[in-house]
Amino acid sequence: MPKFPSNIQVKNHVIEAAASFFEESQDHLSKLPILSSENIAFTESLKLVEIEIPNWASSIISNKKLLVPSELVTEEMQWFNIDWWAAVFILLECWHERNWEEKYGSINSYSNNLKNWDQRAWEKPIVNEILLFLDLWFSELFGVNKAPNVLPMSNLTLTFDLDAISKAPVHTLKHFLFLFYRASKSVKKLKFNEFSRDMNYIVKFIINSKETNLCENFKSFLISNNNLSNMRINIYVCLDSKRKMFNFYDPRYTVGVELRELLVHILNSKMSVGLHTSVKGANDSELIRLEKNMLEGIIGYSVKDNRNHWLRFSWRDTWSALEGNFFEHDETLMFNDRPGFRNSMSFTWKPWNSRENRTFDIRATPTIFMDSHFYMYLDLSPTQIRAAIWELWEKNNKFNGRASVLWHPHTLSPRYSWHVGFNEVLQILQLNK
Ligand SMILES: [Zn+2]
Repeated sequence: MPKFPSNIQVKNHVIEAAASFFEESQDHLSKLPILSSENIAFTESLKLVEIEIPNWASSIISNKKLLVPSELVTEEMQWFNIDWWAAVFILLECWHERNWEEKYGSINSYSNNLKNWDQRAWEKPIVNEILLFLDLWFSELFGVNKAPNVLPMSNLTLTFDLDAISKAPVHTLKHFLFLFYRASKSVKKLKFNEFSRDMNYIVKFIINSKETNLCENFKSFLISNNNLSNMRINIYVCLDSKRKMFNFYDPRYTVGVELRELLVHILNSKMSVGLHTSVKGANDSELIRLEKNMLEGIIGYSVKDNRNHWLRFSWRDTWSALEGNFFEHDETLMFNDRPGFRNSMSFTWKPWNSRENRTFDIRATPTIFMDSHFYMYLDLSPTQIRAAIWELWEKNNKFNGRASVLWHPHTLSPRYSWHVGFNEVLQILQLNK
């Protein structure tokens, strides 16, 4: 199991993360009289318990209860006995997930591989909530606090991962099978409204099957918005065209022809460009270096951002491999099969390197939802998709969150018709400006 750091390391790491959250240079929270816990005995799966907090904190926490990892709480314990440094560290760094990975191997971002988990951990940014609570405690003790208008503004960054440009047989087959599976599920459940919606998707898919370029609508989006510098696109590059024949997971577009044409519009839009590391390359330092070099050769400048394709992710290896290749920022952290806050927070921080017992020299931002959560995994109607996007936006706003969201360019094509959700995302981005 990874070694849990010492009390002083935990405190320093949380203070550094809190400075990122509050966007300040001082470490005002370090003066709080927080008690340290000794020899924490971790449960295998994460379990949370509610801790009642005082009235003075009800302005931000309306039900006056905070969720804390169960191993930090004994009976009769009150809020002022809690080791809040450890509470933040365990959630922020997903310590239970790290232990799980060590024992059972990487879950590769599928939450359903984590058994008996307390899913409340993913429903809101609890770490943000605790930090806001500690800030209020500081003001209770010392009579000064950060006025609400100097707290950082919440924000969402729209990112794209380029997974397909034109139609490919395997891609078509995979999506068609998925639509067919979903329609048959609706019939089995006798949900005829859902069945008629699924059939509508299938009909659209067949009607538009002659469409070869899946990125025409995305291209129009790029052309009609001439400054998208607040957005990012992560681009996959294929190193070896022969490898494509045996690679089920990675995209199949040609870098030389299809990408080159689209790239002109991407670069004109001023959107920032990151690497979309291949499934094979994820966690492989040497392959990442080759992919990074290739992308830099194509776009003509150095690449600082990354998200791994298919959200391949290992707590032990991913950020080590990226840090070693001079990346500055990664947005891989999210679950494939559900939206939410994977590490119970929403802001950019430098994660903990448990192998070397130090903070990584790379920043990470959690991504809180992507298109396929709503359209594939959760199987929602357009009305439900709108509601789900607004709900996540509100949760992020409530606790001053700053996270990323992900949409795939090819899903804006008529074949997919996922633009309803995309338009909703564009609307919420306007509100955070
Ligand atoms: Zn991808």
